[in-house]
Amino acid sequence: MERVFIKDAPKNLGQKVRLMGWVNSLREHGRVVFLDLRDRTGLVQVVFPESSPDYERAKKLTLESTVLVWGQVQERPGKAENPNLTTGKIEILAESLTVFSLAQPLPFDTKTDGREISEEKRLQYRYLDLRRERLKNNFLLRHQIINFLRAFLTQEGFVEIETPILTKSTPEGARDYIVPSRIQKGKFYALPQSPQQYKQLLQVAGFERYFQVARCLRDEDPRADRQPDFTQLDMEISFVEREDVMALNERLLIEIVRKIVPQKKIQEIPFPRLSFQEARQKYQSDRPDLRRDKNDPNLLAFSWVVDFPFFEKDKQGGWTFTHNPFSAPQPEHLDWLMKKENIGEIITTQYDIVLNGFEIGGGSIRNHRPEALKKVFEILGRKEEDIEANFGHMLKAFSYGCPPHGGIAWGLDRFVALLANEESIREVIAFPKTGDGRDLMMGVPSEVSPEQLRELGIKIVGEKNEG
Ligand code: ASP
Repeated sequence: MERVFIKDAPKNLGQKVRLMGWVNSLREHGRVVFLDLRDRTGLVQVVFPESSPDYERAKKLTLESTVLVWGQVQERPGKAENPNLTTGKIEILAESLTVFSLAQPLPFDTKTDGREISEEKRLQYRYLDLRRERLKNNFLLRHQIINFLRAFLTQEGFVEIETPILTKSTPEGARDYIVPSRIQKGKFYALPQSPQQYKQLLQVAGFERYFQVARCLRDEDPRADRQPDFTQLDMEISFVEREDVMALNERLLIEIVRKIVPQKKIQEIPFPRLSFQEARQKYQSDRPDLRRDKNDPNLLAFSWVVDFPFFEKDKQGGWTFTHNPFSAPQPEHLDWLMKKENIGEIITTQYDIVLNGFEIGGGSIRNHRPEALKKVFEILGRKEEDIEANFGHMLKAFSYGCPPHGGIAWGLDRFVALLANEESIREVIAFPKTGDGRDLMMGVPSEVSPEQLRELGIKIVGEKNEG
């Protein structure tokens, strides 16, 4: 007989059903064992009267054990109805019990929202932490958002394409994670800080509309709410201008809110636009929180910030990029870029999307002219050979008929966290790391065997950081 999900049990009134799940609660009352059984879809009361052949075994169950219950769906006696449960009008009169796994006492309560438990402990037992309702709902929301945007973008003619994880350094302003090659000893892959170069190369390839729910990896200094690996909704489009990319993204954001979190209200449509200068002067921030009522958990204040300077001085007095070296300057500043004049005043085509004081995404129109892109790297102080070695493939690709193109990437974790009213992105990432990059459940990072190091030709020198 097929398994019945708990939510469907009421439809089987008067019939026998096979239910499987976890023991959510257990009590004995007047020689009857009452057990609340939980599966992914809900909770239902199961009763083992003393006359039931498995009564004694039911008494010995422990909370959170996994079981199979076979029994009859019956109406609850009048007063025993539980209006708080969708299955509250019925109960299962158990005829047999199979115990799949008897649970040891759990290290913490999984029935609460978990905020009273230390995060270290929650992360160490993340597989149990994820049993709690609050987290389950966060992941349902995350799934709904991703499912929705995939359908939306597909409808708009986008193709989802995966790009490599073992790749070459692509500068996004952080350090790369590097992976040693065993076969090419002494050489390394870099893990992608973003799919930036590949998505542009897919435009040269003629896909025109690309997206990916992409994993990005950045080796940054510990910060409270950063993750070394995180997820972007990444997209890139050919033959577009800034307005096209912004309009499409604005439409998608509005649709997600309307369809998936209709209880939330967008403060202003179209999204207000601020220049970087204006944002700094008026709000002392380039990601201002424009909410008129900051106590309202359902208010969403989106805004766009545009007209950022392309370059800024770094600590050594050279030039560095503020956002993305592959961005195009505003068309009226292309001439300055080509002549390497007024460098500090060149404005980029970058646009950032801000929500309630968080930057939830950013992108730009790209520099699709190889000679102009080269100028950017020159301004950044890269030598000819270095440009060739690191970005020669891009310059070359752009010489074979490159469409003007642009795109954006959203920090999907942050976006989901905001819609879930969660302060930390760790609440919407299934297996997050601590602020200092450790996975407490898996015990990561960890040492590797001397044998593995030998194969890679790697020697650990200096003191180990025991963290
Ligand atoms: N690759 C950029 C980033 O990760 C986003 C973009 O410009 O499309 O921030």
